Amino acid sequence: KDAKFEKGLSRPSYCQDGQHIQLMINAGLVAEGEQVDKESVAGIGLYRSETLYMIQDHFPTEQTQERAYGRILKALGDKPVTVRTLDIGGDKPLSYFPIREENPFLGWRGIRLTLDHPELFLVQVKAMQRANIGCGNLRILLPMVSSVDEVKQAKRLIEQARIELQEEFEQAVPPVAIGVMIEVPAVIYLLPQLAKLVDFYSVGSNDLTQYLLAVDRNNAQVADRFDHYHPAVIAALAQIVANNHDAKSLSVCGEIAGEPEGALILLALGYQELSMNRPSLGRIHHLVRHLNYGDLAQLKVQLLQAETSAQVVELAQNWMHQLG
Ligand code: PEP
Ligand code: MG
Repeated sequence: KDAKFEKGLSRPSYCQDGQHIQLMINAGLVAEGEQVDKESVAGIGLYRSETLYMIQDHFPTEQTQERAYGRILKALGDKPVTVRTLDIGGDKPLSYFPIREENPFLGWRGIRLTLDHPELFLVQVKAMQRANIGCGNLRILLPMVSSVDEVKQAKRLIEQARIELQEEFEQAVPPVAIGVMIEVPAVIYLLPQLAKLVDFYSVGSNDLTQYLLAVDRNNAQVADRFDHYHPAVIAALAQIVANNHDAKSLSVCGEIAGEPEGALILLALGYQELSMNRPSLGRIHHLVRHLNYGDLAQLKVQLLQAETSAQVVELAQNWMHQLG
């Protein structure tokens, strides 16, 4: 954390011209979420539920999960908490659920795996909704989506869990907001169809970069090619905003949102909700309060003409330099 910027966090995150920007936090362990001062954030933009599974040596029971989700939902009061359903596979293995694949990042990951094991998915979405009774600030986020059908299936299971809870409690359990991660490039072109099914989107720029550039995000050999400032990634991020015709809530929760250059670029491209690791919050908040959102249209034009990521970064840095 940068002490210099921490003090400012008590002030609301408005740009100089009055545009409000929602700044949210990524969390993985309950403790991280509980330590957040809820007055200084608009909510939890990404709660990585897999951490709960990774610290155990067996699948966590519904009760264990309910307790964990309940703590974070309560800690945030009336601010939304976006809990992502289990995103294992790829680089995130579970010791008690070994998966052997030649191309794990193109394999059995996230929603693909949990839809093939609906019993796991049901336990999780039931625990989430059970924890939400009496809280009401839960949003459910689906990872690694690449088709409309996956979303329909996931929604059916979430609904099934909700009905079961209603029967158990003999009272109405309201449906929760459901969102999709935009991290497989295919989803960029499915937004019009998905808009009929979901309430919000969250851009996972880490995986979006990996899949758009065909560069393994964890392979040291190609680490310098894994670059979320690549002009194609910038173009894709702009396309997402353009394809969000229904103006659904749209945030970015990948690492790019927590870097000053990245946050500035995202705002220029039209994003108004950013979710980041806690240590980045003060600095990004400071940036937001010192810029004119309206002026950034000019920067967007320049960004979309850049040929290299070095140019993209330079454009952002020059802009920040002018801000002082
Ligand atoms: C992402 O892919 O950008 C993301 C936020 O999810 P994760 O890093 O957990 O895959
Ligand atoms: Mg991801």
